[in-house]
Amino acid sequence: MSDGRLTGKVALITGAARGIGRACAERFAGEGAFVLVTDIDTEGAAETVRRIGESGARWLELDVRSEADWARAAVEVQRSHRRLDVVVNNAGITGLDLGPQDPEHTTLESWRAVHATNLDGVFLGCRTAIELMKPPGLGGSIVNISSRSGQVGISGAAAYASSKAAVRNHSKSVALYCAERGYAIRCNSIHPGAILTPMWDPLLGEGPAREAAVREFVAEVPLRRMGTPEEVAVMALYLASDESSYVTGAEFVIDGGILAGSVAQPRPE
Ligand code: NAP
Repeated sequence: MSDGRLTGKVALITGAARGIGRACAERFAGEGAFVLVTDIDTEGAAETVRRIGESGARWLELDVRSEADWARAAVEVQRSHRRLDVVVNNAGITGLDLGPQDPEHTTLESWRAVHATNLDGVFLGCRTAIELMKPPGLGGSIVNISSRSGQVGISGAAAYASSKAAVRNHSKSVALYCAERGYAIRCNSIHPGAILTPMWDPLLGEGPAREAAVREFVAEVPLRRMGTPEEVAVMALYLASDESSYVTGAEFVIDGGILAGSVAQPRPE
């Protein structure tokens, strides 16, 4: 499975205790990267490191909302590795456990909480990555995990959709800024659709109800299934590797065809 596509690279991944972040960590390590596994879920992060093995990964404490945590992480990366080749800004929350998320009933507090993780976290992650990657002779790749919800409105998750749209746009600003400055730093966004991770647990429930909920949901997905975290990790791997050396400021959709069209399209007969 491994072609050593990231051999010699150091990668920092946020929200890597489970889901898409863990899949990226495992795939990157399998391709030869040393992975800095970061999350607020310390147990899950430790489990990710255990699954990879300590020769390929280590845990670093990092709440993406905290400027101080990012500053500490930068110092630690500099001290231990003297380089950072890849940052995957993956940590994100839906806010659905914080109360209603529609435009009429969302509280300012929960609106801000969602943006603090999903947008401030990505802003701080990009800023830190630029600082560490910009010295001549270094460089790197920033991969921001946005969402298909960053490209369309989501009436029941308005703050989430707003934050992901902002991530999509900020990725392009970062890409242009770095290119203008002559920094060897690329920045791209990934837009997953329905990827089966623990993020979906509150929406899908458990047992037979869960199976029914998945069936109902995928009926609207052109490929008729949910995606896997590993499928997203392959896309992140391409963007993290030198294979994507001419790709910056671009957005990559992985959604089983959801954004390709509309369910309201006219069909013959
Ligand atoms: P997930 O299973 O919920 O995992 C997210 C991880 O991020 C969790 O371990 C979570 O820790 C951690 N996290 C939350 N807040 C954090 C913070 N402030 N600092 C550091 N870590 C934090 O989610 P996922 O489905 O893998 O999603 C990963 C990314 O993909 C997110 O940005 C999400 O918006 C995006 N995405 C996912 C889908 C999908 O269908 N799954 C679709 C589109 C986009 P706790 O568990 O302790 O909160």
